Amino acid sequence: MGRLSDGLRFTLSFAIAAVVILSLWGVMLGSMSTSEPPLDLTGAIAIDDPQFEREPTTLTPDPLAPATLPLQRSNGAAYEQLFAQVRQQHQRCPSAPPWYSVPAHPTNFGDRFRTDIHGQVLKQEPIIVLHETVASAQSALNFFQTPHPRDEDQASYHELITLNGWILHLVPWSKRAYGAGNSMFGSESVQTNPRLAPSVNNFALHFSLETPPGGRHNGRQHQGYTEAQYRALAWLIAQTGIPAERVTTHAAVDRSGERMDPRSFSVATLNRYRLADDSC
Ligand SMILES: [Zn+2]
Repeated sequence: MGRLSDGLRFTLSFAIAAVVILSLWGVMLGSMSTSEPPLDLTGAIAIDDPQFEREPTTLTPDPLAPATLPLQRSNGAAYEQLFAQVRQQHQRCPSAPPWYSVPAHPTNFGDRFRTDIHGQVLKQEPIIVLHETVASAQSALNFFQTPHPRDEDQASYHELITLNGWILHLVPWSKRAYGAGNSMFGSESVQTNPRLAPSVNNFALHFSLETPPGGRHNGRQHQGYTEAQYRALAWLIAQTGIPAERVTTHAAVDRSGERMDPRSFSVATLNRYRLADDSC
């Protein structure tokens, strides 16, 4: 009897200890996943706001580019026009996803070019390259808003779609975002810097998805993106009128062998939203 109650007491204390340890662990995990600061959009203005009228299109002189190169900068007018058209559709469509302007620091993007380093006039039609942030949208924003004077630190996307389906406008479409260095789309690639490998950046619009909390690592997959993200992305792609065959991923255009984003992306889910009957 005594031995039995000792055994029972041991089992009970073990069970209680296990419950306490597991709940502490749960609390710890819970606080880890909620310790991320909420997205801070102080100072951001809505794309539909009249305050957001025209983005600067002045060309940025590059002190490192030798003047002798037959490179000609482009004011990106065709891309600016495309953006203006999408913005107009956004203003007209009350069910469109929320869209805010959160400008990246100008060191993180550059001009598009009319010619490549050999003086060849460029004729590529635009493509859309999809990415994921790996980090949270907030830390991605912090990075893009920080000046990065060194070429190798510069990175940006045109648009970032948060987990709750908001679109954050970071880089003017008339400008070249540094989304995919050393890249090629089919046989299309452009060299605009003698020191860097050819890339698709000159004719790309880079759209990135915020990675879910369970995917903030370098593993091969995660739980995937939210329905709100697919809906916002499908809306944005549809408004550009860029055909499906010119929508690609960073993983597909990358030539460095290092990029695999966006991981766990479902083309089928995107297509479901693209085909969904939307009133605007
Ligand atoms: Zn990427």
